[in-house]
Amino acid sequence: MKLSTSSQMKELDAKSIKEFNIPDIVLMENASRGAFELIKKHFGKLEGIKVSVFAGLGNNGGDAMALAKHLYNAGANVLVNLAANPQKLNPSPKINYEILRSMNVEIAIINNVDDINDVFLAHSLIIIDGLFGIGLSRNIEGLFYDIVAKINNSNAYKVSLDIPSGINADTAECLGIAVKADLTVTFALAKPGHFLYPGRDYCGRLEIVDISTPKNLIYEFKPTFSALVKNDFSLEDRPKNSHKGNFGHVAIVGGSIGKSGAVVLSSCASIKSGVGLSSAVIPDCINTAFESLCIEAMSYPVNSKDGFFSKDSFGDMLEFVKDKDVICFGMGLGVFDEGLDLLKGLIDLKKPMVIDADGLNVLSKKPDILKTASAPIILTPHPKEFSRLIGQPTQYVIKNRLNLIKEFAKNYNVILVLKMADTLISDGESIFINTSGNPGLSTGGSGDVLSGIIASFLAQGKEALEAATFGVFLHGFSADLAVKEFGENALLASDVINYLAKAIESFKI
Ligand code: ADP
Ligand code: ADP
Ligand code: MG
Repeated sequence: MKLSTSSQMKELDAKSIKEFNIPDIVLMENASRGAFELIKKHFGKLEGIKVSVFAGLGNNGGDAMALAKHLYNAGANVLVNLAANPQKLNPSPKINYEILRSMNVEIAIINNVDDINDVFLAHSLIIIDGLFGIGLSRNIEGLFYDIVAKINNSNAYKVSLDIPSGINADTAECLGIAVKADLTVTFALAKPGHFLYPGRDYCGRLEIVDISTPKNLIYEFKPTFSALVKNDFSLEDRPKNSHKGNFGHVAIVGGSIGKSGAVVLSSCASIKSGVGLSSAVIPDCINTAFESLCIEAMSYPVNSKDGFFSKDSFGDMLEFVKDKDVICFGMGLGVFDEGLDLLKGLIDLKKPMVIDADGLNVLSKKPDILKTASAPIILTPHPKEFSRLIGQPTQYVIKNRLNLIKEFAKNYNVILVLKMADTLISDGESIFINTSGNPGLSTGGSGDVLSGIIASFLAQGKEALEAATFGVFLHGFSADLAVKEFGENALLASDVINYLAKAIESFKI
C-alpha cells in the first residue's frame, strides 16, 4: 500500500488544485464529509450528542471546522474550540469559520487553556482533533501542550483528522505530547507515521478517505514508503505436474552446542513454507538433536570443535553447499574466530543468501565483504545486530533507522530487513513497513523462523525484495493466526511454523 510523506502529500494536493482544477475548498469538504460519514456510522445517531471540536490555525483546523458543520447539521451539540486568531486563517479554513458563524455554531477562541469549556468537554461523547496535521515538525509546547493533555484526559471518543496532533507524519515520533485517538481519519493516502511506532500506537483505528484526488495522480505517484498489507500479496497454486526439484533446495548453515533449536526452527520453517528440499549443515555434535526434531529436512553434519564448526570442515561444507539454490546462514552459529572465513567462502559461492543472527555478528567484523558478492543478499538484523554492523549504539540505530537502513542497503547492495514490532525492509531506494505480527513474537526463536521462511521463498524463485517483503508479512500474519489459539504470552516460535499452513493458503488466488 502506497504511503505519502508530508511533503509528497502537499505536492499531490497542489497538483490536484493546479493541474486538475479541483479547488482547495472541495478537497477540504470531501475530507470533512468522509470523516463525518465514518463518525455517523460508528455512533448511529448524533442528535443531541455533545461534540468538542479542536481546530488549529492550519488546514487541519479547516477540516475540523468543516466537519463541525456536518455534525451540527446532523443534530449534534457542537462547540468549536479555535486555538487560532480567526483573522490569520488561510482562505479555505476562513470560509469554514465564516460558515460556522453564519450558522450560529458556538465558537470559543482559545488563547489560554482556561478558555476551554471544561463542563462541556466533560460531557462530550466525541472530541475532534484538528489541532495539527501532517505538517507538524516542531515540538508541542505551552498552550497546545495543555490542550492535548486535556483532550487525552477525557473519556470521549477521540477522532484525529489526518494524524493525531503531536505525531510526526514522516517519522512517527511523538513531538512532546500527542493525542491518543480512537479513530484516525486520513486523506487520500496513509502516511508512514500511521504505521511506524510510536505513532501507530496513537492512531487507534485508521481509515483512509478518498478526497477526490485524481486516480491518475495516485497511480503515477512513486512512493518512498509503503505499508505491507494483506492484499499486496498473492500466491499461485503449485503446478499439478510438479516435483520437489521445482521448488528449490535451501542449505541452512548454522547451529552450535546449546543452539540446535535455531537451525531446527529455520529448517522446519523453510519446509513448511514450501521449499522442495532443505538441508541443514551443522556441527556433528548437534546432529542427533536436529534429526530427531526435524524429520523432513536432511542434515549434513560436519566436524566440530568445542561445540562450533571446526575450520578443518569448511572445505567439506562449501563443497556440499555449492550446488544448493539458496544459503541461509548464521542461526545459532555462535561467534568463533574463523566464522568470517566461512562467511567469505559462502559468499564466494555466488548463491542468493539470507544472513541472520550470529551470521550478522560475524559479518560485523568486516561488512565490506558484502561488496564482493555477486548474488542477492538479504540481511535480517534486529536493532542490536544492526548496531553491531554499523558500529553505532542501539538507541541511535532506532532513532535514525529510516535513513540508516536505506543508506546501508544502498552502500552494500543488499536487502536490509530491520526486525522490530514495525519491521522495515529496504532495497536502498524504498522502505516497506510491515503491519502484521504481534508481541507474541517477542520470544526466542521467532527470528530464526523468519530467516527460514525468506530463504524458502528465495529458493522457490521469488526475487530477493519480494521474498523479504512477503516473508516478513507472512511470518507476522501466521503469528496473528497462532495468537488467536495460544495468546501472546504463550506463543512459541514453533506455533508460528504450525500456522504457516493456514496462513499460506489464505494467499492463494
Ligand atoms: P540474540 O542472539 O538473542 O539476538 P543479541 O545480544 O544479539 O542476542 O541481542 C538481543 C537483544 O537485542 C535483546 O535482548 C534486546 O535488548 C535487543 N533487541 C532486540 N530487538 C529489539 C528492538 N526491537 N528494540 C530494541 N532492542 C532490541
Ligand atoms: P530470535 O533471534 O530469538 O529468533 P529475533 O530478535 O531475531 O529473535 O527476531 C524476532 C522476530 O519477532 C522478528 O521478526 C521481529 O520483527 C518479531 N517481533 C518481535 N517482537 C514483535 C512485536 N512486538 N510485534 C511484532 N513482531 C515482533
Ligand atoms: Mg535472531
